[in-house]
Amino acid sequence: MKKEKVRVRFAPSPTGFLHIGGARTALYNWLQAKKNGGSFLLRIEDTDRTRFVPEALDDITASLKWLGLEWDEGPLVGGPVGPYFQSERLELYKKLAQQLVEEGKAYYCFCTTERLQELRKAQEQGKAAPGYDRCCRTLTPDQIREAFAAGKMPVIRFKMPEQGEIKVVDALRGEMRFDLSTLDDFVLLKSDGYPTYHLANVIDDHFMEISHVMRGDEWIVSTPKHIMLYQSFGWKPPVFIHLPVFLAPDGKGKLSKRHGATSVRDYKDKGYLPEALVNFLLLLGWHPGDDREFFTLEEAVEAFSIERLNTSPVALSLEKLDWFNGMYLRKLDPRELAIRCLPFLQKEGLLPTPCPPERFEYLVSLIPLIQERINLLTEAGPALQYFLEDEISPPAADLLVPKKSTPEEVVTALQSALAALKEVEEFTEGILEETLRGVATALGMKAGQVFMPIRVAVTGSTATPGLFELLAAIGKERVLARIEQAIKVLKK
Ligand code: GLU
Repeated sequence: MKKEKVRVRFAPSPTGFLHIGGARTALYNWLQAKKNGGSFLLRIEDTDRTRFVPEALDDITASLKWLGLEWDEGPLVGGPVGPYFQSERLELYKKLAQQLVEEGKAYYCFCTTERLQELRKAQEQGKAAPGYDRCCRTLTPDQIREAFAAGKMPVIRFKMPEQGEIKVVDALRGEMRFDLSTLDDFVLLKSDGYPTYHLANVIDDHFMEISHVMRGDEWIVSTPKHIMLYQSFGWKPPVFIHLPVFLAPDGKGKLSKRHGATSVRDYKDKGYLPEALVNFLLLLGWHPGDDREFFTLEEAVEAFSIERLNTSPVALSLEKLDWFNGMYLRKLDPRELAIRCLPFLQKEGLLPTPCPPERFEYLVSLIPLIQERINLLTEAGPALQYFLEDEISPPAADLLVPKKSTPEEVVTALQSALAALKEVEEFTEGILEETLRGVATALGMKAGQVFMPIRVAVTGSTATPGLFELLAAIGKERVLARIEQAIKVLKK
């Protein structure tokens, strides 16, 4: 038998920024396409006008690109089975919904919102199962004509068989059976002419020749309805794979805004690298079968298979993500890391936009000082501040005085260091070390009693990269000025 071409899609609704759960769904679809030489489609399910967020579309496309998940067909790139926006396919949905009405598989429903609300209230009070009571299912052709003549706008509902069973096969979870009597006569076409998710999703998956539907498991309950639709149209359904939700870090409930970052954009702004986020998402619902942890996208394509997707929910571990990010960040070439840090430093006003080449080269030279010390790109700002700014705010006197010294001793140490450093022509690590050790010996002090105050004077911090390399990087003029400033603080 000829193997069917793998065609998968990511079908977000533009109701907000791309959630990392959605990004993971996109990733698995993308991998499934690449692994099998197939196509990855992006389809925008924008039929719910009430939840439409105009900025969402740009965010979704930009976030997917940032993650490296380019689509073969869809918005911006087009393709043979477009349009890829559902709002541009309304005629098709209408035509097919009407076709089902003509075939007796669907029907017009003129019930008003008020009636449906009352029905729901009564069902709630009587503790009856919710759902449409099929009031319009038995309207006669005359009644329907009259309603139209009176200007009433109907919805079209699916005529669910009243009994029987429907089998849903999920490639991961196996067979699930649903009792048809529990399924509603769900709406296919709304009175404004827009389709519901169910109708549009099935029609598009069919005409876009989707071979595998991989989506979040919150859609499992919809799948029996979809299968019923495939049957009604006489179409072959795709293979279904429902991916487990992932839970908030505390393991309780879905990841939501109250847990902090939820969208890809949030993670980008927090200073995560796309390659780290992708690697992290890859392992959040899929396992390689061995203990490998690091995957580039290409390696993930190699290793991926849908059989090793998990079915149980996984909690998001932010420590793990930070760890991944730190590992990826350390692997970058310093120049590349400088490029990644640059926008964050510009945002903090530590470097100008555009950044002049000599300032950028200075940044590149600083990267080795921080590369081992940061996990997020946003940490570059605080770590580099005292290198990039000409002046730092004067450190507090307490910070300048190490535990085993008195303020007088610190003033002496700083003054001697200042005098000695003034004589140093070339600010290189070796010479600086020799000079400052000489100062400590001459004063009869421990090295730390001299080094720590200098470190604080020059950086405002007690935790920094190695003192001599940092002094060399900051340069003579600024070092001397900052030591003078610290002496003033202590003398006050
Ligand atoms: N538009 C749906 C969503 O936003 C797509 C669900 C599906 O993939 O079928 O998640």
